[in-house]
Amino acid sequence: MGYEKELEIAVAAVRDACRVCRTVQGDLVTAATIEKKDKSPVTVADFASQAVVCAALAQAFPSDRVVGEEAATALRDGDGAAELRAKVTAAVRGIRDSQMSEDAVLDAIDHGGWTPPAGGADRFWTLDPIDGTKGFLRGEQYAVALGLIVDGRVVLGVLGCPNLPVDDSETRGVLMTAVRGGGATLVVLDDPNAASHSVQVARVTETAGARFCESVESGHSDQGAASRIAVHLGIIAEPYRIDSQCKYAAVARGDASIYLRLPTRADYQEKIWDHAAGMIVVEEAGGRVTDIDGNDLDFARGRTLEKNQGVIATCGPIHDRVVAVVREVLDR
Ligand code: AMP
Ligand code: MG
Repeated sequence: MGYEKELEIAVAAVRDACRVCRTVQGDLVTAATIEKKDKSPVTVADFASQAVVCAALAQAFPSDRVVGEEAATALRDGDGAAELRAKVTAAVRGIRDSQMSEDAVLDAIDHGGWTPPAGGADRFWTLDPIDGTKGFLRGEQYAVALGLIVDGRVVLGVLGCPNLPVDDSETRGVLMTAVRGGGATLVVLDDPNAASHSVQVARVTETAGARFCESVESGHSDQGAASRIAVHLGIIAEPYRIDSQCKYAAVARGDASIYLRLPTRADYQEKIWDHAAGMIVVEEAGGRVTDIDGNDLDFARGRTLEKNQGVIATCGPIHDRVVAVVREVLDR
């Protein structure tokens, strides 16, 4: 299986980033910010989360590159840069290193600004410091997602889901991890000493018994097409709408057996950091992940999945049938 050190460092980094996100969410996301549609809290948390993860990766694996969603440009100059920089640095210092300078924070963020060459690269990480920013601002679901790509294949993924219920109890905060060939596991986010549990997809073999999940945001996935597809598949359960890669976590542990991400426009290219960690978690939990035509996701094409359109993740046995119906309904 291998990648023991990578997994240990990635888990610790994502845990720290989740703490940053929660602290910022608790302090800054108020009824007033939601009312005003003020995005500044998510901006602070986004940058701070990327700084925390990238600083940890740079320390442990100095020669590894990181493809993160953010760049520190907006913190270096322009309107409000100094104020934002100070807030981000304060958030990072609260979690990682109380002495970390503003420059070190900016450098850590920019460490995640690498663009892989179009022909692929031998080894790099990809990070979404806050996936599901809309969910974060609504106080709902979001995720910190970190994946390791080696020779074009995702070999390790860590998904921190700070608001996802652990089980039927009130406890929230789930960490899912997967290493290629080693299965997927779930641990309680807030308890580093808690035992990890193996995660398995639902044992659903007929689509009529399935429940599907999709984005809350109708701009990110075609919900109208999804409901037509559900009719064709005989699905009667209402869609489970949830932000971020928590959808992959939901399929991995059997809360849903299908995740549909259907393009809302033909020219949108999915980003690698939106799928790397989630995809390997579902695959290692026994499920399957492809694009809407049934092709494997190709992570060797730079920052986006330019060879793919949309995503379908399922518990496995129903995958081919779901792909066939998606293709039929979308007339592909
Ligand atoms: P979700 O929470 O699943 O709705 O997805 C959040 C992600 O959607 C963000 O991280 C964006 O990268 C991505 N996104 C933004 N615009 C689009 C779009 N038009 N189609 C699909 N995904 C998008
Ligand atoms: Mg994202």
